[in-house]
Amino acid sequence: MNRKFLLLTCILLLSNAIVFSQSKLSPADQKMKTFVDGLMSKMTIDEKIGQLNLVGAGDVVTGQTSNSDIGKKIKEGNVGGILNLKSVEKIRDAQKVAVEESRLKIPLIFSMDVIHGYQTTFPIPLAMASSFDMIMIEQSARIAAEEASADGICLTFSPMVDITRDPRWGRIAEGSGEDTYLGSLVAKAMVKGYQGNDLTKNNTIMACVKHFALYGATEAGRDYNTTDMSRLRMYNEYLPPYKAAIDAGVGSVMTSFNEVDGIPASGNKWLMTDLLRKQWGFKGFVVTDYTAITEMTEHGMGDMQTVAALALKAGTDMEMVGEAYLTTLEKSLKEGKITQANINQSCRLILEAKYKLGLFDDPYRYCNTERAKTEIGTDEHMKTARDFATRTFVLLKNENQLLPLQKKGKIALIGPLADRRYDMAGMWSVAVDHNQSITVLKGFKDAIGNQADIFYAKGSNFVDDPKLDLFYRNSRESSIDPTHTPQQLRDEAVALASKCDLIVAVMGEAAEMSGESSSRSDISLPGSQQELLKALLKTGKPVVLVLFTGRPLTLNWEQQNIPAILNVWFGGSQAGNAIADVVFGDVNPSGKLPVTFPQNVGQIPLFYNHKNTGRPLPEGKWFTKFLSDYLDVTNDPLYPFGYGLSYTTFKYSDLKLDKQKLSVNSTLNISVTITNTGKYDGAEVAQLYIRDMVGSITRPVKELKGFQKVFLKVGESRTLNFKLTANDLAFYNSDLKFKSELGDFKVFVGTNSVDCLEADFELTK
Ligand code: BGC
Repeated sequence: MNRKFLLLTCILLLSNAIVFSQSKLSPADQKMKTFVDGLMSKMTIDEKIGQLNLVGAGDVVTGQTSNSDIGKKIKEGNVGGILNLKSVEKIRDAQKVAVEESRLKIPLIFSMDVIHGYQTTFPIPLAMASSFDMIMIEQSARIAAEEASADGICLTFSPMVDITRDPRWGRIAEGSGEDTYLGSLVAKAMVKGYQGNDLTKNNTIMACVKHFALYGATEAGRDYNTTDMSRLRMYNEYLPPYKAAIDAGVGSVMTSFNEVDGIPASGNKWLMTDLLRKQWGFKGFVVTDYTAITEMTEHGMGDMQTVAALALKAGTDMEMVGEAYLTTLEKSLKEGKITQANINQSCRLILEAKYKLGLFDDPYRYCNTERAKTEIGTDEHMKTARDFATRTFVLLKNENQLLPLQKKGKIALIGPLADRRYDMAGMWSVAVDHNQSITVLKGFKDAIGNQADIFYAKGSNFVDDPKLDLFYRNSRESSIDPTHTPQQLRDEAVALASKCDLIVAVMGEAAEMSGESSSRSDISLPGSQQELLKALLKTGKPVVLVLFTGRPLTLNWEQQNIPAILNVWFGGSQAGNAIADVVFGDVNPSGKLPVTFPQNVGQIPLFYNHKNTGRPLPEGKWFTKFLSDYLDVTNDPLYPFGYGLSYTTFKYSDLKLDKQKLSVNSTLNISVTITNTGKYDGAEVAQLYIRDMVGSITRPVKELKGFQKVFLKVGESRTLNFKLTANDLAFYNSDLKFKSELGDFKVFVGTNSVDCLEADFELTK
């Protein structure tokens, strides 16, 4: 056997040499290759397989790693990296075992889910996308990288760029919503923010784009469920954000749990090799999602050994928890089910990642206790988080200009989210310090000082059913008040509210009601909170609903009855301050929805860039027999994509195109004038959409192709210029070729995906 291995190694080295002599490497890549070649020539098969193993933090305790189970594995060369280990001390300790006690002293990668900030927590990703502010998004990722790297982390499992059109899916909170164009820009901004332009710096970290691929298309919005879609839809709608991250130089890619074309992503060669590497030219490593390889046995793809071999051959390099690689690959190699080349390729990519991160130069590059003390959760970072959060809130309704509130009189602050520190940061906030999180009550009190009186009552539990409460809050503290019945809670709140001038109701989802494994089939405000809201409305006092949510909710009743609704998603560590800033008018809201809010669950999937069908329902109509519609609800959303009000009003005028015929090699210049016609200074996100009127395949009724966020003072007008080229009009055709097609187009510019000015042009030769 050993002789066979030797022979195989020789063949491999030779073929490497041939490939190498043919391809031109940059001097830096050449240096890396020489280094990795040298290291790999000393490695046993076991050690190579060990590099493919990413383990959970398990029993690691500061100062004890060496004696722990993980410590034993590290010493034996069976670990490539560790997941979600927190603190410089623990990380330094584990790294020390790797570089002092393992045979080849290969440093470990330390990874974590740094999703929307580290200790300084920014708004959840869906909220970030609502800002339409790429500079701010990049900056938040930059700060997250600075803090995470100061605490020992060098790889984050972010950005999550899964397009989704199903608000039942809890993980909608983790991405940028339903739009391909917006999602692609966010993906790029996040990668740039995390990685900077030099990964070896001690304040940049490697990003990992996830979940490759199509995880957001999970059937019925149920997490981990099957996905199935045409290649056309993949290429045109779901894949571009992953590709944008690859083009931005993302260092790693995470496989998704779902199947794609019948094969689970982690074992899908078409995805991981043909598309990702051959078509897109990805050069980094692929890591699985948590136990995604072993889960392939449940998918019905075979036993552990079979699925591990399948994954490796597909091009999946590192296994996150599960250890199917660690325990079966050697056997598969002996049985000829995989080759040494398969193992070498994956091992090389992981070693290269470590090299790119500078870990071979200094394995403790990210383990500086001084930085950990001074650079995490700083006042400056918190200030940015507060500023950013204010830009993500979406004003859904504001009858009679109820908002902003004046800082005067008696304000009743009611609701289960008004004083819940644990729920401010939102889902996936592994490193948050909840003690630093600002509640709405605190934010209001600090904003108001002694200018007005605040009266607080909880008013209701999140939900009254103890079983649901347990599901919804995950491991966080219960919201059920054991000393009061729901009726007592409500009565107390109503009595208090009746004595005030107005009511701010702070309600919605608990943080853990969205995110992973948090799908809902009913996406309305939980019953106990609805009852409270109705009771508050009956007092006759003006009611402002400050809505916390990680997904679009069905809010028909609220839209019809509550005069003002401010959707604040989950605003991060500074949520309470930011909410006060906006509610009291120090900041004018400017967020726009990155996802459609349906009227009811039955409309799902409902998204703005749908196809027209052969029997479209004319705009403004409800039901017409034999057209594509519902008997019991219109086709309209409750709030469309791109929607969001401001305390001021903006008027769009003078949409002009510099030509009616755009030839394929030229540029169409589009201008529009926006005027702030209201009473407040404010920012507006002007959105540009197109429609390709005739195609070789059917085309969406609208597609976002550009946006600009402008700040206008009261009375100020600005002319914005947009550009379109043939490339912006291109799409993947039936042959999966990315091409534009000559013919008629419409261009729309406006304040959301429905209310737009429009003009026509033609793409010509
Ligand atoms: C999630 C990933 C995450 C991983 C590691 C999985 O359950 O799907 O998004 O990165 O856990 O925590």
